[in-house]
Amino acid sequence: MGKKLYTKENISKAETEWLGIPELVVLKTNRDDVGLEVVHRRYFEDEKLLCPACRSSRTRCSKIVDRKLKDLLWLDEDHKTFQIISLLFHQRYMRCDNCGQSVFPEPTEFGEKGCKFTNRLSDALADGTFQFSYKKVCQHYGVPASTASVGEVMRRRIQCRESLLPPVRTPHIISIVEVLFFGEFYPAVLGIWDDEVYCLDILRDSSEETCGAFLKTLDANQVETIYVDPVDSLFSAVNQYFPMASIVVTDEAIKRYARNAMLDIIHSDGKRFPVVHKDRRLTVLHKDLDDRTVVPRIKEGMKSRPRLQRAYNHHQRLLELMETKWSMEDLRTWADQIPTEVDEFLAVGDIIDIFGEQLSGFLTLGEKPPNNYQFAVQGICDAIKDMPHCIFDVMRGRCIFSITHDTMEENGELWRYGIKSSRLTEKINEISANIREERDYGYQ
Ligand SMILES: [Zn+2]
Repeated sequence: MGKKLYTKENISKAETEWLGIPELVVLKTNRDDVGLEVVHRRYFEDEKLLCPACRSSRTRCSKIVDRKLKDLLWLDEDHKTFQIISLLFHQRYMRCDNCGQSVFPEPTEFGEKGCKFTNRLSDALADGTFQFSYKKVCQHYGVPASTASVGEVMRRRIQCRESLLPPVRTPHIISIVEVLFFGEFYPAVLGIWDDEVYCLDILRDSSEETCGAFLKTLDANQVETIYVDPVDSLFSAVNQYFPMASIVVTDEAIKRYARNAMLDIIHSDGKRFPVVHKDRRLTVLHKDLDDRTVVPRIKEGMKSRPRLQRAYNHHQRLLELMETKWSMEDLRTWADQIPTEVDEFLAVGDIIDIFGEQLSGFLTLGEKPPNNYQFAVQGICDAIKDMPHCIFDVMRGRCIFSITHDTMEENGELWRYGIKSSRLTEKINEISANIREERDYGYQ
């Protein structure tokens, strides 16, 4: 392979300029089926590539592998009109004569390894997918929507958006709440400032390692109180990084776990229950029912469902208890009296048992969560649970990187304190509607 296939005579200057990717040189071609044929600029330069294994410069081209890529060319400054072009990239593979060990492709900047899209196309696809379905965005640009590519496309853009965010201003009160998304739990890290709930991030899993990796980015001296979901790994992580803070389990967490247990029972025992919106109406306090006409219907539906009736009554007792100035003793009594056949509540009983100290800690807290805390947490949990199916990176991207964060300036520096819960919930619901209703991207 000593002799080069192309000489400078083969370069198409006009098309190279038109393409506008600094690394690439467009070749004159007589094939009309491939779009633009391109090579890396260094093909015509003397630059020697270093062997990644031994750093030697005794490398030479051993073969050329053709890569087909789709590329996007913006035709105006405002990025409204575009053209999709096909590239045939003749990528050189180098062999190292020093160590003889390695054959490596020449490095490129314009596209990720193995990706069928150039970065500028990939980024345009990702920007759309933050708010619309990937399929619709790909249709808009007229490129194939392979589900294998969406994760890579999004991760690249998320990294970029994440790097542009100002640093987190560590809240004095942190809350870690597990949100459920297609059968998996993901901890959402919330911060509380001036009676408002803000979302800082959503983590990949509830392991001590993942949670710890996030917590260590915060300023431990600022953290005074942590509301943590009753999960061992989360508790350990919090305890390790903020040993001086008050670590408590709130009444909201107990109510949420009890509600989830109640929903499981409704879904198993409450099929064809004669009440619309039964999930909501069978999990709120009886006295808070928005429509009194459902009261007799609930009674009617319970007649033929004795287990559901017992679960409902016991859940109501907990909700009533939580309305009052309850004590740990009250909670333990409630747990002891869980009806034998209602296993779903046993997990709540275990939490009361195992996290008794943290629940007691909550009762003696000087400063209670803001009034809208329960509403904010439930709003976030429900909004995420209702999002259409996607992989974790896309879900996190849509929640955390498509919505503006609230920021503050202090001593000339910009800090962020997360996304206000009401805006987060509203925007997630909007994105879900875009996807569910198959709204077209680009014609808003
Ligand atoms: Zn080498």
